[in-house]
Amino acid sequence: MRVSTPAFVLRRVRWSDSSLILTLYSLDYGRVSAMARGALRPKGKFLGRMELFSQGEFQLARREGRELDTATEASVIKHNLALRTGSRAFAGAGLFTEWLLSVVSHGNEPSGPVYRLVEEVFSLLEAGAPPWPIICGGVAKLLQLSGHGFSTDTCVACGAKVDAAVLWSHSSGGVVCGKCGETGFSVKSGIISFLSRAGSSSLESLARVSLWSDGYIQCHSLLKDYAQVHLERRLLLKSEKVMKEILDAGQ
Ligand SMILES: [Zn+2]
Repeated sequence: MRVSTPAFVLRRVRWSDSSLILTLYSLDYGRVSAMARGALRPKGKFLGRMELFSQGEFQLARREGRELDTATEASVIKHNLALRTGSRAFAGAGLFTEWLLSVVSHGNEPSGPVYRLVEEVFSLLEAGAPPWPIICGGVAKLLQLSGHGFSTDTCVACGAKVDAAVLWSHSSGGVVCGKCGETGFSVKSGIISFLSRAGSSSLESLARVSLWSDGYIQCHSLLKDYAQVHLERRLLLKSEKVMKEILDAGQ
């Protein structure tokens, strides 16, 4: 079956002198892997059309029951050049991609909202937005869209409105009130209010939220610990260290 779908290139693995295996997130099929024969040929038809983090229209030959598709045609929708050339944007796009590939496994249902989230995250990073709020806000939205959402305003145990001193429980799924909070630990209210905003605001408006120095690193750690409990596996986020090193963690 030959199909055509818009997709983002999330990973490129060299398969031979001239071929790549691509990991794509596509609008119509979700996460897919595709062999791109000749992708590395200097004068090949794929030259410049399968760059990391770029968005393209891909023609894929798919076979029932096969995990690896074959890319037969590709054209660029958006190059996203700054995501490959700017160190901040590159680290941000890399970290969000690692999250996406951790949360969305092979065989997942395609999701228009997830596709549009990737599009928004990449566009904002490409335009020079501060990466930390985009990553933290984007990951919060991604967890919600993939069925791992959390509560930020009502106690997950009894439903009471929660404010002031905030306790958090990974296993319960978000904030817990003082009465139910035996298993909870305290989290700075600035992080909870950011995550609450992330549930309802656009990423563009979240990009303007500044936290204290280290605030977003703490927020990211909370999201990572939470996701590890709910996905029941360790997340290896290699870009996290790079992000911490090159960026001012307050924004
Ligand atoms: Zn409660």
